Formats: sequence, structure tokens, C-alpha cells
Amino acid sequence: MSAEHHSATEIPARLRLVHEEIALAAESAGRKPDAVKLIAVSKTVPAAVIEEALEAGQRRFGENRVQEAHGKWPALKELHPDIELHLIGPLQSNKAKEAVALFDVIGTLDRPKLARALSEEMERQGKRPRLFVQVNTGEEPQKAGIAPDETEDFVALCRDTFDLSIDGLMCIPPFDEEPTMHFALLAKLARELGLDELSMGMSSDFAKAVACGATYVRVGTAIFGERSLLD
Ligand SMILES: *Cc1c(COP(=O)(O)O)cnc(C)c1O
Repeated sequence: MSAEHHSATEIPARLRLVHEEIALAAESAGRKPDAVKLIAVSKTVPAAVIEEALEAGQRRFGENRVQEAHGKWPALKELHPDIELHLIGPLQSNKAKEAVALFDVIGTLDRPKLARALSEEMERQGKRPRLFVQVNTGEEPQKAGIAPDETEDFVALCRDTFDLSIDGLMCIPPFDEEPTMHFALLAKLARELGLDELSMGMSSDFAKAVACGATYVRVGTAIFGERSLLD
């Protein structure tokens, strides 16, 4: 399989296309297009290419590794203070300090130890990134996320024990399953818990996620092109 980023000049057009598809999916679901926010997933994408997306007006980005993000984003954030950076990959507790300092949204909170670490760091740094709880909707043993039937207790623990306010839920459906049932499950959990935000949907399925109520979609390949399989 060829694995090349789109040439930088294609990126504004790709972004427009994704925005159009989001708007279309929202309208067909009777939702307002601006109820859905696009996170441009820039993992493995070099800063020079990210610049093209910034020039096209994109300000919300997602990275899945703290280390990689640390190498690219401080300089870009200097240039564009209105960037909103989301961590969408697994977070080790020992990287909580770096994550709180760098990210505006931490989208993968999924265990008590991490909740404690984030709580302590947020207190220490006086900075409160917004938080999403990741739910393992497919209950896959190898995948991060809290089990669906433990989500209510975990959200309560975050609030009551660690003084963390949770904005919403996030999921990554199993690779080989129809995603709609997972999006619907996440939406149902959020509704039951009174949470407003839903981060779900990637390049291959964001229209379905929007139909199920996504308020954030995380799209990489459709904007920046295929990543190398080694990434
Ligand atoms: C890489 C990634 C995405 C984007 O995936 P694409 O298929 O490239 O759109 C979304 N969410 C998470 C958690 C990811 O790691």
C-alpha cells in the first residue's frame, strides 16, 4: 500500500470536503452543522504540513503521543495562540505533567490512577484541560477505555474524589465491527450521565458518528493522507 501524506496544497480542499460532509450528515440528522467540531488528527504529520491546515483556518488538532506532540506543538502554539490541542491517545500517569502543560483537552481519561495524576497536576499547574472519559464500547481486552458498565461509577469518582469535571465521552469502535452500535451506546451512556460532549468518528465513519450525535469527530487520513503502517 502506498503511504504518503497528501501534498500540502491538497489540504485546504480536503478540509473543505470534510467540513461539507460533516454539515451534510448533521443536516440529514436534523442537527446544526456547527454542533459538530472537527479535530484534525495530525499524528505523524510534520509541522510544515500542519502549517497548511493552519493557513486554511483549522485550529483544532489531535495527537496521540505526548512525546511527538511535544516536539511539534509548542512552536506552532506560539504562532497561533488560539490552537486547541486534543490528546486522543493513551496517557501514562507519569506523563500527566507534560500532558496537562501542553494539551487543551485530554480525551482519553480511563482509570483512577490517571485521574489522580491529572488532578494533582492540574492543581499544581493551575491549568485545567477539558476532559473526556474514554469508553471501551467493544470491551476489547487489548484496548484502552473504561468498560461501559463501569463508566457511571468512574465519572462519579472523577468528580467526587478527584474534583475533575468531565465534559463528555470518547470511543474507538472495534476495527472490524459496524461502528453505529458503538456510537449509539456511547451516546446513550452520555445521555444517562448528563454529559453533553461525544468524541467519536474517524475518517471512515465520521458521518455515521454525526448521525448518532457526535459533537467532536477526529479525522486524520481524510485530511492529511495515509500514514505509514509503521507509524
Ligand atoms: C489516528 C486516530 C484518529 C484518526 O484516524 P483516521 O482514520 O486517520 O481519520 C482518530 N482517533 C484516534 C484515537 C486516533 O488514534
